[in-house]
Amino acid sequence: MTPGGCGTQRLFASEGHHSSMDDRVERGLALLERLEHESLPLADAVDRLEIVTADPTVTRTILDEAELRGIIEREDGIIRPRSRQYVSFDEDVITKDGDFECKRCGSGLSTGHFINLEAGEIGPFGSSCIRKVTGRE
Ligand SMILES: [Zn+2]
Repeated sequence: MTPGGCGTQRLFASEGHHSSMDDRVERGLALLERLEHESLPLADAVDRLEIVTADPTVTRTILDEAELRGIIEREDGIIRPRSRQYVSFDEDVITKDGDFECKRCGSGLSTGHFINLEAGEIGPFGSSCIRKVTGRE
């Protein structure tokens, strides 16, 4: 009995990553713009950006770009958001019913809350996690 490898071929769908980098950067920037903190540790900001990307390279790009565009100031491991475009919970948060998993804590949700940004939607989150993500609580 020799393994012939016949008939066990599988085709894997290739993950196209074309221009998704820009998309993640844009959403990361949009998220940073809306943080309701006077200042926060860099580590916290990086933590927040994990919602948008798990790739440290992209996270660094987002932070560099945010500093370049004047969205944040960075010094000694502290970030100060410069813009004051807070999330309006009436206008910028949309909810969807379905089977979701909270991006922040991983718990199951029957209603997902999304931050609806020009750059795209960020979420889903539970009703309390979305407030923590934006720094509201
Ligand atoms: Zn949650």
